[in-house]
Amino acid sequence: MNVNVESIAISGIRRFFNKVAEVPGALSLTIGEPDFPVPQEIKNAMIEAIKNDKTKYTSNMGLDELRKELSNYLAKKDIHYSMEEICITVGGSEGLFSVFNALINPGDGVIIPSIAYPAYESIVKVLGGRVLNCEVNGDFTLNIESISRIIKEHNPKVLVLSYPSNPTGAVLSNSDMEALYEIGKNSDLTIISDEMYSALIFDEYYSLAQVKELKDKIILVGGFSKMFSMTGLRIGYVCAVDVYMKQILKVHQYNVSCAPSIAQFGALEGLRKSLYHLDSVNKELKKRADYVYKRLQGMGFEVAEPMGAFYIFPSIKKFNLCSEEFCERLLKEAKVAVVPGNAFGRAGEGYIRISYCYGMEVLKQGMDRIEKWLSKIKICDN
Ligand code: PLP
Repeated sequence: MNVNVESIAISGIRRFFNKVAEVPGALSLTIGEPDFPVPQEIKNAMIEAIKNDKTKYTSNMGLDELRKELSNYLAKKDIHYSMEEICITVGGSEGLFSVFNALINPGDGVIIPSIAYPAYESIVKVLGGRVLNCEVNGDFTLNIESISRIIKEHNPKVLVLSYPSNPTGAVLSNSDMEALYEIGKNSDLTIISDEMYSALIFDEYYSLAQVKELKDKIILVGGFSKMFSMTGLRIGYVCAVDVYMKQILKVHQYNVSCAPSIAQFGALEGLRKSLYHLDSVNKELKKRADYVYKRLQGMGFEVAEPMGAFYIFPSIKKFNLCSEEFCERLLKEAKVAVVPGNAFGRAGEGYIRISYCYGMEVLKQGMDRIEKWLSKIKICDN
């Protein structure tokens, strides 16, 4: 066996999702998957693509039309990549995997926020890289001083940014973008910006990929899984300048050849005709975010208000249970599944992740059950 692979574990998100099936009547607030259907235009385009036998390999980089359309879509967000600088991948996951593979040699240092999406650490460990965790602040924004300190002490090669954040719902602020610009300008870091949730945001959107002076140092990873509820259709993308893209493409090509053709036609139609869907999705997500935030506050949780994506990350420190035990008991005793914060790095201990991409009725039931359970465990503790 590969010792690096042996050293990592299956994602804690999936572990808790799978446990729900073992508890009859349990309600799951675990998974990072929008409950909205795929927009009809996308479905129609995929049906047409099948009828017209568009079932062959596409070019390794993906359909030209899709890459052109994506280039136009990103330009509207002030992110400028030509179609030659865009590769369509098998979800954001393969995009991330190909990017890290292209960059990391054994021993290379990679700055990863703790708290963050768990795949970064695991991939870096598989490749023999050195994970260097930077801290996040109380509101889950980046602790810039911690990044600067790591750069001084460890001479890292890569910095991973991940906003809007899974699991915290935090977004990149204008001032953090400026601070990161200084860091990027004055270092040799390559910066990977994972923007899987960039279409699901409640206010201003900022991305380091908007900073033209840093384009040579940035690799943008995005995708359609969350944007168009296309999680099972597996279409993502990587944007990078030629020096990076040449290497990323080799890994992508030997790994998957190309992303699924039918789903690429779906994503293309989505960019052309389904962007309207994002308005109602964001309105609905904001309504749910407000509801869950207020309910959790009402129960006495310390919790930061989510600004994007569809997760909320309350602290459970005052309940004197570790996140694993809290979630185990919540599932067994209240029949609600959420994800323990330690699935998102060491600093995630003391938190739980609640996914609110479920209908209001489910969220209300979930919150009611948590509230009732908390009142019981508080009585027991007294
Ligand atoms: N990046 C982040 C931050 C995510 O939360 C996810 C999925 O949950 C991914 C990447 C992977 O996305 P995909 O399902 O497109 O592979």
